[in-house]
Amino acid sequence: MPRTFAELGVAAPMVASLSARGYETAFPVQELTISDALLGRDVCGKAKTGSGKTLAFGIPAVQRISELPKGNVHALILVPTRELATQVLEELAPLGESVGVRLAAIYGGADMDRQIKQVKDGVELIVATPGRMIDLLDRGEVSVSQVSHVIVDEADRMADMGFLPQVEWILRRIDGDHQTLLFSATLDGAIDGLVRRYQRDPVRHEVVEEEVTVEQMAHRFIAVHQMDMAKVVASIAKHANRTIVFCNTKRNCDRLAQSLLDLGVDAEPIHGDLRQRQREKALAAFSGGDVEALIATDVAARGIHVDDVDVVVHYDVPDDHKTYLHRSGRTARAGGTGVAVSLVLWNQELDVKRLQKRLGLDEPIVEMFSNDPRLHDLFAWNPSAD
Ligand code: ADP
Ligand code: MG
Repeated sequence: MPRTFAELGVAAPMVASLSARGYETAFPVQELTISDALLGRDVCGKAKTGSGKTLAFGIPAVQRISELPKGNVHALILVPTRELATQVLEELAPLGESVGVRLAAIYGGADMDRQIKQVKDGVELIVATPGRMIDLLDRGEVSVSQVSHVIVDEADRMADMGFLPQVEWILRRIDGDHQTLLFSATLDGAIDGLVRRYQRDPVRHEVVEEEVTVEQMAHRFIAVHQMDMAKVVASIAKHANRTIVFCNTKRNCDRLAQSLLDLGVDAEPIHGDLRQRQREKALAAFSGGDVEALIATDVAARGIHVDDVDVVVHYDVPDDHKTYLHRSGRTARAGGTGVAVSLVLWNQELDVKRLQKRLGLDEPIVEMFSNDPRLHDLFAWNPSAD
């Protein structure tokens, strides 16, 4: 069982703030790093995109500086892009609010005077891209003399984008006693140099990617007709506890979700065009059981960690076997039983056979209409025994 944030030592107001978003238990990278970071250790964390690194470093940063005098910058989070700066700010703002820590984002391409004013009005945590941060330091508009908590996020991307000299320039200026956290999807060469030069006896944590294999779940392949597809999904979802349906495009997600609603299924789309808050709401409703079917794109599904998903539907055929496995792995989590169902149109049969071969599967593609009772329990149905 994943541990709760309270069990990891997260302060009550922050636990409540996370809970309000539907976040009760920690993701693996958070379980591994939060306690060490709260204890003041330097942490070097490796985990892939979507694994929850923002809260892994953000929770300890906000919590540790919440006790320090207000009006000084105590924590600095360096990120490679302005998009990331705003994302990190959005993700951490409610936590800051819960314990009275004020945050600001400092990045290029936006009004510098406004950012300066915000800093002057008093902030304790800054999320910044290196270039703009250096501008403000150079002009003496912001001071890092009181910074006790430094985070380098996406260190590998910083290196790829050629930002390491700037990052180091900033790190060298933080000379008071401080804690340094570094997070990255890879930890080789250049990143290792950063670790050696700027971290003190760091604890290293790596989240090993969970390997999904075809043996973990049952696989069903159903030949369907275009006009009947949404109804087939509705029939599956109505009889399952929790269903995740994968589409290849945001547009297909929206359309299918609407069709399912019309057919009486509580469905919610989840994809990159929706605001973070909407995605979180949909996810929380799905975890809580108010939504029966989540209609997702592959990208949006990356951060989804919901147990007890009994059916994964491949509404659109996945592009490759890796995507098939990754999608299918949303079911049968934590050792539960699950079934991955692929809906196959007549002109997709060859592609699907090729996909099966790549996966080491040899399942018949069986034609069904939406009124077929076998759709009610695809796990129990044995296509080879028909
Ligand atoms: P990374 O930085 O590793 O790419 P993020 O920090 O952006 O990943 O997190 C990916 C998504 O997962 C975000 O939408 C985030 O809000 C969500 N998330 C993070 N931690 C949790 C958690 N413990 N429970 C549920 N959702 C979480
Ligand atoms: Mg991140």
